[in-house]
Amino acid sequence: MSKNVTEYFLELIQIDSESRNERAMIDKLKIDLTEMGFQVQEDDCNTKTGGNAGNLYAYLPGKIDKKPLLFCAHADTVKPGIGINPIVTESKITSDGKTILGADDKSGVAEVIFGIKQILDSGLNHTPIEVLFTVSEEIGLLGAKHFDKSILKAEIGYAFDSENIGSYSIGAPSQNSIKIKVYGKEAHAGVEPEKGINAIRVASEAIASIPIGRIDFETTANIGIIQGGIATNIVPNLVEIYGETRSHNMDKLAQVTQDIVNTFEKTAAKHKLNGIEAKVEIAVNTEYKSFYMSEDHLVVQIAKKANEKLNLASRFDKGGGGSDANIINAEGVAMIVAGTGMHGYHTVNEYIETADLKKGSQLVAELIKIYSE
Ligand SMILES: [Zn+2]
Repeated sequence: MSKNVTEYFLELIQIDSESRNERAMIDKLKIDLTEMGFQVQEDDCNTKTGGNAGNLYAYLPGKIDKKPLLFCAHADTVKPGIGINPIVTESKITSDGKTILGADDKSGVAEVIFGIKQILDSGLNHTPIEVLFTVSEEIGLLGAKHFDKSILKAEIGYAFDSENIGSYSIGAPSQNSIKIKVYGKEAHAGVEPEKGINAIRVASEAIASIPIGRIDFETTANIGIIQGGIATNIVPNLVEIYGETRSHNMDKLAQVTQDIVNTFEKTAAKHKLNGIEAKVEIAVNTEYKSFYMSEDHLVVQIAKKANEKLNLASRFDKGGGGSDANIINAEGVAMIVAGTGMHGYHTVNEYIETADLKKGSQLVAELIKIYSE
């Protein structure tokens, strides 16, 4: 294994692991965790997600008799993530501009491993530790969704998968995905348009009437994809629309989702022709559920103490995105999302400062120490 967290991070980002192709990365982590004394097991979630590797779960016994402390990070990256060529300056690591850097989330992985390593090297007594490195997080939290959460023994945990060190997301919204099919009736657009129902027209009217964008301080709605139609001389009979709603409040999420569904149904019913009317087929799926941890929750209290110990500027906010923490929280483990120092993620301008990699690993060690007290 590398001798410091920066070297280790550089090693990890040069192992290609775009979502569904995490095999080499999971193999590497298996070896390293085993070397550290963890009992490791990989699941077979990839048989359901179409990837080439499963989630990696690892357990390290401890001498302090408490429930384990859980650390989570994801092993996959977004695209373009093949052949990452890191450029290391005095204080900063970037890619060469052709790919992402992969700090999202290999900074999290490296900090978790080196933070634990720090505790092991110091010989300090600690509680048991659980580590979960998920796959295919970036394509809809697929690994976490298919992971058997009943294996987890921890009651609290930290996902290292956010921006600034010392900042935490202590809440995240719920998200519904919405797939809508609008059916019209096909006809020749030049010869007999009166025999058709234009599905694009129906869809447009509905989209123009639904709530969209920021609905209130904790609720959003979006239509992100629309596709339909075959040729300009055909009255189109099908349009497919993909959208989403998010809210920190489950009632509001249900309300805004229902408003969208109702609007499409009502609009379709207005477009009738000889007893036939436009039809809609709508599928709503809850992608993940919201969570919120109050500031006096143990998981937040420990994070605050760790920040103080390391002189980190503290921030505890509700985030706007979903992550593995949503899935883990839904199973009863109180998990908040910690910053790793990654910046500009999901772009080729992604970077991280070497000082932050070190601080992140110290933070992991500090969380273990405080929890073990
Ligand atoms: Zn991430």
